[in-house]
Amino acid sequence: MSEKPNIKPNSKPNFKNSDIYKTFWQGLRPQKGLFLTALVGYLISAVAGVFVPLYYKDFFDVLQNSVHKSADSETLTKIILIIAAIHILQLIVFRSATLTMNYVESRTMAKLRQDAFNYVIHHSHGFFADNFTGSIIQKVGRFVRSFERMLDTVVYEMLPLTIAVIGAIIVTYTIAPIFSVIIGAWVIFFFSFNLLYSKFMVKYNLASAAADTKTGATLADSIGNHATITSFVGQDFEKKYFKEVTEDQAKLGLKTWNMQQVSTIFQNFLLLFVEFVVFYYAIQYWKNDALTIGSFVLIQAYVINIGNRIWGLNRIMRTFYESISDSREMVEIMQAPHEISDAQNAQSLQVEKGQIDFKNVSFAYGTANASVLNDVSISIAPGEKVALIGPSGAGKTTMIRLIMRLHNATSGMILIDDQDIQTVTQKSLREQVSLVPQEPVLFHRSLKENIRYGRQTATDAEVFEAARLAHCDEFIDILPHKYETLVGERGVKLSGGERQRVAIARAILKNAPILILDEATSSLDSHSENLIQEALEVLMKNKTTIVIAHRLSTIRKMDRVIVMENGSVREEGTHASLIAQDGSLYKKLWDLQVSGFIS
Ligand code: ADP
Repeated sequence: MSEKPNIKPNSKPNFKNSDIYKTFWQGLRPQKGLFLTALVGYLISAVAGVFVPLYYKDFFDVLQNSVHKSADSETLTKIILIIAAIHILQLIVFRSATLTMNYVESRTMAKLRQDAFNYVIHHSHGFFADNFTGSIIQKVGRFVRSFERMLDTVVYEMLPLTIAVIGAIIVTYTIAPIFSVIIGAWVIFFFSFNLLYSKFMVKYNLASAAADTKTGATLADSIGNHATITSFVGQDFEKKYFKEVTEDQAKLGLKTWNMQQVSTIFQNFLLLFVEFVVFYYAIQYWKNDALTIGSFVLIQAYVINIGNRIWGLNRIMRTFYESISDSREMVEIMQAPHEISDAQNAQSLQVEKGQIDFKNVSFAYGTANASVLNDVSISIAPGEKVALIGPSGAGKTTMIRLIMRLHNATSGMILIDDQDIQTVTQKSLREQVSLVPQEPVLFHRSLKENIRYGRQTATDAEVFEAARLAHCDEFIDILPHKYETLVGERGVKLSGGERQRVAIARAILKNAPILILDEATSSLDSHSENLIQEALEVLMKNKTTIVIAHRLSTIRKMDRVIVMENGSVREEGTHASLIAQDGSLYKKLWDLQVSGFIS
């Protein structure tokens, strides 16, 4: 953290900005009719703006050449009325276009949020293990806001500026080509300078975006770990940690701002210079009677208008490029192929018996990491109840992740009722397997909704029955809002035992033929323990069951115990047969057990 902030874009080298425009266009496409209508409105309004100085020119020419004041005053009034009419038309068209664009923009932003969410939610377990939740949330937010900024910049700044420049060049050309040359050269130079400078600034903007992401992720991580911080009195450490991250961000931000100032100063001088040159030539033309006062006013009006608008070009392009860097992180995530995808022509998994076979399965988390499972072959008969035990890090959790296909095995196959799980759809696979995790995390929704997650189509009566079988009703009934109680973010308002019972109720509702249970390692009071054991008994009935077991009371109920060590099956057999084997790892673990726990 104390190292120098990294200012290199850490993105894929083959990433193209057009990928961002394409992603934005996907969001915009459903509104394209209204979008084009609004654009035409802005165009009309900008073109009208080019005509106004032409009437001012007439106005001043009439004033200058006036002989019959009463007749001329009528002409002057007419001109002013025309100018007023153009302004009113411009106002109506512009405001209508804005109302339309507001609608288009809000719909598109909602769609982009949905697109981002819909894609991210299908990324794999590995993706979410590798990416901070906080950072993903921030990237989604920035992605959508950058669309808004980019569109606003194009519609409210770039479009009117372009029309103003083209209009001014055409009109001044008819008066004296020198002025269109000056305006043209000025704008081209200004634009090229800004383009190059903005490109040069991209790496700083990218680094700023990355620093911002890091700050957000650190904040989310620390706040998410609030309980740990409090129990380890880590507040001071966290404050220092957060300070370093935010100071790095501030340093990068300051550097970026200062670099922008340099370009602004240069552009200030350039604008002053152009105004001077235009004035100088105008005076020369006027001296030779080649320029009327009206034309003088016209040229000045164009230069001032372009000056005012171009003045923001630096900011406009900066915003544009910032929007690109801000959205890039998210677009990259949206382009990264999902790590786990269905095979072409994947079939639905058909489970009739519930047999599970591991055939020479090996697995490593990423190519750089050591193998976690080595050539594991086991066969679990339909309806069999198996306990997986073994020291921490032996690979038990990894095995159940592979059955759910949260990762693909590196080699070997996993079969369910003789169907390779890599050839069936993920949806059908996961519909046939219920998982009760070790530490269930709940949605910040009502208890009823949380339980119903097991089967969304379940009736209230079915939800209540599942809750009763899982012994959830005992704690739910005494809550003031009962099944409507909100459980707090990630379920923090419930105890571990209560959350596990909610997870069991979900699995009861789901009623899948294969059950995987990752037993809690923490001890529960004996009352909760009994309730959970009873609930599990209901749940396991007639199902092929794999339990990562820590409790002797659970292990004893199993048909078979598989003892894992260092990613391999070390021993297997019934509790009785393994305990009878002298020198078995199981016997060793059994002898070490404390108050009913193997750990
Ligand atoms: P167990 O459930 O038996 O305690 P695990 O299957 O959780 O063991 O872990 C086996 C090994 O894999 C451990 O060394 C662990 O550090 C490693 N591991 C687990 N999850 C990941 C992951 N997402 N990325 C990299 N390594 C992991």
